[in-house]
Amino acid sequence: MGTIGRMTIETASVSLISLGCSKNEVDSEEMLGILDHEGYLVNHTASPATVAHGTKVVIINTCSFIESARKESIDTIKAAIERKRLGEIDKVIVTGCLPQRYRDDLVAELPEVDAFLGTGNTHKISSVVLDALANRPPVVEAEAKPHHKWLNVPTRIRKGTPWSAYLKISEGCDHACTFCSIPSFRGKHVSKPEDMILTEARMLAEQGVLELNLIAQDSTQYGHDLYGEFRLAKLLKSLSKVDGIQWIRLFYCYPSRVNDEIIDALANTPKVLPYIDMPLQHADSDVLRRMRRPMNAETYLALVDKFRAASPQASIRTTFIVGFPGETEGEFENLLTFVKQARFDRVGAFTYSVEDGTPSATLENRVDPATQTMRRNRLMELQQGISLERNQAWVGEELEALVEGRAPRDFTMAVARTFRDAPEVDGQVYVRTCMARPGSFVKVRVTEARPYDLIATPVNAADMRLAMKLNPATTS
Ligand code: SF4
Repeated sequence: MGTIGRMTIETASVSLISLGCSKNEVDSEEMLGILDHEGYLVNHTASPATVAHGTKVVIINTCSFIESARKESIDTIKAAIERKRLGEIDKVIVTGCLPQRYRDDLVAELPEVDAFLGTGNTHKISSVVLDALANRPPVVEAEAKPHHKWLNVPTRIRKGTPWSAYLKISEGCDHACTFCSIPSFRGKHVSKPEDMILTEARMLAEQGVLELNLIAQDSTQYGHDLYGEFRLAKLLKSLSKVDGIQWIRLFYCYPSRVNDEIIDALANTPKVLPYIDMPLQHADSDVLRRMRRPMNAETYLALVDKFRAASPQASIRTTFIVGFPGETEGEFENLLTFVKQARFDRVGAFTYSVEDGTPSATLENRVDPATQTMRRNRLMELQQGISLERNQAWVGEELEALVEGRAPRDFTMAVARTFRDAPEVDGQVYVRTCMARPGSFVKVRVTEARPYDLIATPVNAADMRLAMKLNPATTS
């Protein structure tokens, strides 16, 4: 048992606020796992306002991906500092992308913060918390060139639902997209050793996880740095043998690395879902060249066709950036034409935002914000019709759905996801007359399609019985 002044570690409470993406969420869960193992009382919390009075340490794991994320991070830090000033909490520690990227500015502007820890240093969280509690001078750990170190975390303190977990297979990125600042603060691509991934997958399965969501900056680069070969397909096959895991879902595929082996693994490996998340960013050749991205509309379409030929029911998700510097109306229309041809299941669209230090920040002919927004809306309107048609093709079909909760206004309606719906980013399936408990699978028949969601009923009468008893009006 450690002691800090008159306080034992066991009585030192640590609350963590995780901002940003799923990769940050895993880092947050790992940091709390380390502190939990050391004996601290730990919990995730939503914001400084929800931190319990008297909490010893508040950790804010920040995001600095784009301007709005930075603002959210700074506002959160300031709100925590205010609670510290009022004497309601003792220490504020800031971790993650923001101190990694703006270390010196933050140290100068936020002297009330007790420690800063960059993305490559999360393994030091325990000693940093201890130093802060012992009132040692503020620790500032953020190397200029971060290199991720994999943590052997005995138990991640999970944040999401018990049945679905993110599993990070690599960190950092070796690409050089001109709009992106991520490689500068997440560092070069570093794969997690396969045995560590499998151990973690088994540990998550033992805790009741049914769905593994594999994440990285570029999952298709998995293995090259460690084994001298791209090993994603092999990894998927090894993971599919982990007992207890039912679904394995793949995110963040770099298009030019999606080879036949990966397509085959997605189409034919048990438990691996025929779902691919492949950010394409644009489809016009000139814009792609300015973005320093590979391929073009023609080769993208060939890849989409190949994937659908291998797995006709497959669901494809992508994201685009509109309003990149110099994007002409014609170039944008080429993107629309491509979207019409490719007929993706899901599309996310972002307006370009200037990131300090990236090559595109120096490009001229910026597209004005009103045009950017208009283009994003046009793209999303077009995609809405396509998504609806893709959803309509499922009406009358049977699907396996993972129940996650109940509809807010109808407790006899289950809210679920199928293989087509990734957590947080995709749609949902509303299952009428279904009282199956969250975290269980039910077979459903699709009865109706909406642009983002599906409506369904259970296939088995047993799944409907209780709901019909509780509310006979739901049987129509
Ligand atoms: S592949 Fe993704 S993370 Fe890497 S530089 Fe390009 S956009 Fe950034």
